[in-house]
Parts: sequence; structure tokens; C-alpha cells
Amino acid sequence: MKVEFYRHNISSSDIQRANHTLRSLFLTTGAEVANFERAFSKYLGIEHAIGVTSCTASLHLALTAFGIRKGDEVITTPLSFVATAHAIEYVGARPVFVDVENNTGNIDATKIEHAITRKTRAIIPVHLYGQLCDMLTIRKIANKHRLVIIEDAAHAIEARRNNYRSGSLGDAACFSFYATKNITSGEGGMIVVHSQEKANLLKKLRNTGLSITAADRYTKMYRHYDVDLLGWKYNMDNIRASLLIGQLKHIDRLLKRREQISQYYDRIFNGIIDRPSITSSSRPARHLYTIWVDSEKRDAILRSLQKKGIGVAVNFRPIHLFQYYRNKYGYRPGDFPVAEHIGASTISIPLYPKLTQSEMRYITRAVLLVARDISKNSHGFRDIRKVSKS
Ligand SMILES: *Cc1c(COP(=O)(O)O)cnc(C)c1O
Repeated sequence: MKVEFYRHNISSSDIQRANHTLRSLFLTTGAEVANFERAFSKYLGIEHAIGVTSCTASLHLALTAFGIRKGDEVITTPLSFVATAHAIEYVGARPVFVDVENNTGNIDATKIEHAITRKTRAIIPVHLYGQLCDMLTIRKIANKHRLVIIEDAAHAIEARRNNYRSGSLGDAACFSFYATKNITSGEGGMIVVHSQEKANLLKKLRNTGLSITAADRYTKMYRHYDVDLLGWKYNMDNIRASLLIGQLKHIDRLLKRREQISQYYDRIFNGIIDRPSITSSSRPARHLYTIWVDSEKRDAILRSLQKKGIGVAVNFRPIHLFQYYRNKYGYRPGDFPVAEHIGASTISIPLYPKLTQSEMRYITRAVLLVARDISKNSHGFRDIRKVSKS
């Protein structure tokens, strides 16, 4: 059997809508992007949404719009996709990592204040696997120290916790429509903000700093434009927006299906295979389902699963141990022990609405078999709890 790691949910009506756009005159940022932005902003209940080409671009623009620059420090987690830290590098600031919670993998809010210096300007929490960080605590810290919060919500469009959602408590939140994300246009991203002023600035920043858009130039009488700031070419196009509009309408139905699949995995793995836990106040977006196995045997387990035809991934190996960050900042193994342990232990298994019951059964059987064969005499993931107490 072959079970892909991910299969998208682009439907024939999404394709029809994109087809319609392709047959129209206007392919770049225009009415379809505005339609999608309106729908996205309405879905989250946040005033402004700005469509861009990726979540990486959206993090870069959000940092720029909030004035983060050379000499500043930005606090974030080492347990994320490398783009989270790269975006901080793009603006010339320094990423300052804070270790993660041993039960969720999210940034440990209780450790953030130790990392704040006179240079700290912002925090980028990442809602790992779709579970929101402890944003109530992070908001309090940000208010006390006058820091900007930019949420990396690439996994978390649908997430809820207590009374908040992605973007509710941050100054900005950044989303991804990359090929394996919950809704996708192959590549794509979105920034949401509460402030009209920042929204206007972000619209300019995504469009090379031009004071008028291509749509304005096309629909109105010719005017010269001016450029008063350095923007980037990060604008979302109408083709991608038309693929995403329909997917957003079904996003909660698709979440329900991933929730059922996650619960099926949970029932079978309970007491046998360790996993991140879900905080009681949390309704995660269920973006990824990861298991935590013995770090010594992780790669062998990963390969065995692949040999059985099961698509797997590692989300994530910690950012501070990549060459670039080691060379630049001198990070070493042991600097963020919890993130390192999770990074060495984690395997993501397939989680998407198109999974069939027999594929799910095949996956769980394979995981149990492989983990039992390989992990004989091992103490599995339980040593993580010791790591974080020391
Ligand atoms: C996918 C991802 C990104 C980057 O998204 P792109 O749209 O590919 O730029 C950023 N952060 C996290 C946590 C991600 O998983």
C-alpha cells in the first residue's frame, strides 16, 4: 500500500473558478484577491487581511511594517520551520530563541521574560501543529515590555483556545497556503492586522512600494505613481485567490474530518506511543499529527515507515542547530534541550481529509509494529520530562 503524506482538497469547483479567472483579462492582484481577503478577514473576525505570496513573505512584511530593523532582537521558538527565523534575519534583526513546553512543543511563555533585553522589540510565537500558544500570558508580557506580537499561524487558521483565535491577541498574524497546508494554492500567504494604518502600509509593502495598484492603474484614468519606501514583490494574484475562496468555505468541515482522524490515532496510540498533548482549553487546527519516539531510533522508524509506503515528515529539527545559525550566533547542542529532544524524536504521519479508513488502519498498524520492533528495551519519549526539569 502507498499512503501519501498529504493530498490537497482542491475541488473541481475551485478549479472551475480558477479557470474562469484564467479566461478573464486580469490575472494579478485584483477583485478575486480582494474577495478572498474579505472572506478570510470575516472568517477570523479580524478587520484587515492582506494577501501575499507566502507565509515567509508575510512574516517579512509584518516585521517591516512594525518597524523591526537592524540592531533589534526578536524572540521566537527554535521548534519551527526555518522561515520563522529567516524572516527576522531578512530585516537585519537577531532571532533570540526561547525553549518550548515539553508537552506541546509551543514556546514556553514562562521563559520569555528571561530572554528580554533592552534591544527586544517583538515576539513571534508559532502555533505548532495547529495548537495556539498561551497567548494570554504572551500578551501580558508584550504589554509590560511594549513588544509587538507577530503570530506565525501557518498551521493554525482554524485554531481556538479559550476565547481567542489566531490573530486575536497578536498585532499581526501570518498564514500559509503552501502545498501541504490545510488550504492551499501551491504557494501563498496572508497577513491579518487590526490597524487600518498598518493594513495600508502592508498593501504598499507587498507591491514594491507603489502608491497605486495595477488594478487602480487598469480601472482608472492613467496617473503617475510615486514610490516613497522600499517594498517587495510579494502580492498575491487572482489565480491563486480563486483557488482559495472555495476551500475557505469548507475549512471547518475539513477540520472536523481531521479531528476524527486524530481521535482515531489517539485511541489506538493511547498508552503506547507518546505524542504532544492538547491543552484542555484548546481546539487545535489539527494541521499535523506527530508521534514522539525514542530519539535514538527515530530515523530507523522513519525509514521503516517509508519502506512500508507511508509518507512521513519531520516537523521540525530545531532552527538553532542549522549551520547558518550555528555559524552566525555560535549556537550548540544543549542550548534548547526540550526543542532539541522533540526535534530528534518527532515523526509526522499522514493527516488529511482524503485519508480512507483502510489507510488509517494501515498506518496505525505499521506504526505499532515498527515502533515495537525497533524500540524494544527503550524508554521511549518519557525522558523528555526529565530533560525539561533539569
Ligand atoms: C509552512 C510554514 C511557514 C512558511 O510558509 P510558506 O508559505 O511556505 O512561506 C512558516 N512557518 C511555519 C511554522 C510553517 O509550517
